[in-house]
Amino acid sequence: MLLKDKVAVITGAASVRGLGFATAKLYAEQGAKVVIIDLNADASQAAAASLGAAHLGLAANVSNEQQVNAAIEQVLGKYGRIDILVNNAGITQPIKLMDIKRENYDAVLDVSLRGTLLMSQAVIPTMRAQQSGSIVCISSVSAQRGGGIFGGPHYSAAKAGVLGLAKAMARELGPDNVRVNCITPGLIQTDITAGKLSDEMKTAILAGIPLNRLGDAQDIARAALFLGSDLSSYSTGITLDVNGGMLI
Ligand code: NAD
Repeated sequence: MLLKDKVAVITGAASVRGLGFATAKLYAEQGAKVVIIDLNADASQAAAASLGAAHLGLAANVSNEQQVNAAIEQVLGKYGRIDILVNNAGITQPIKLMDIKRENYDAVLDVSLRGTLLMSQAVIPTMRAQQSGSIVCISSVSAQRGGGIFGGPHYSAAKAGVLGLAKAMARELGPDNVRVNCITPGLIQTDITAGKLSDEMKTAILAGIPLNRLGDAQDIARAALFLGSDLSSYSTGITLDVNGGMLI
């Protein structure tokens, strides 16, 4: 078991078809105590309960500092430590550059970028005190390619911001043995993509994927296990592409 007795906080993990829940499930199977943080308390609790009694489901909007800090206080009250944070919560909006209004920009940047900052700030004092920790941030191939899949330009910008923030955090936290790394998923079949791709779009996208399939949530969960666990003990500030070869 790679995560025996580790405490892992995963945001946006209540959606059972999503990348966060797949990661939560794999982490639980590997011995971690998992905390699922998502917008809806019932959904978070149900998702955590489905993994077993050792796990916890909490409600928080990751872009709300008060809610984030209250959730992390609850985690520390119950488990006393935090070993892994997976910044997974994110939203996308398939709109074009000139259609981006302030509210679109704010909504997308708030969840992915501000959420990653606030959640990380909330756990860092604990990880520093422990002199150990791993923060895994979910970016996107859209940050590297400038979209071209389903997110708008503001989504690409938010996810590129996550890459920069993660590297800066890795540099600053390295001396405290806190590692920070990113995963850049390609196109993965979850609720975020369901119904947003026509057959033509899918065919065109597959033509650009050497492995000739869309990803599934397990592909990302396994990468998150590598980065969250000691398997990646000498990696910090890296970007792990999990995209079927889309960038070759
Ligand atoms: P999903 O929509 O299935 O899950 C996202 C979860 O985040 C949902 O449970 C939602 O309730 C939660 N969430 C949204 N806003 C929140 C907030 N403010 N606070 C707390 N939770 C919030 O999406 P997914 O496909 O599993 O995506 C997970 C992550 O992976 C996202 O960051 C997404 O941008 C990224 N990603 C997905 C793909 C893909 O193809 N599916 C590709 C690249 C990157």
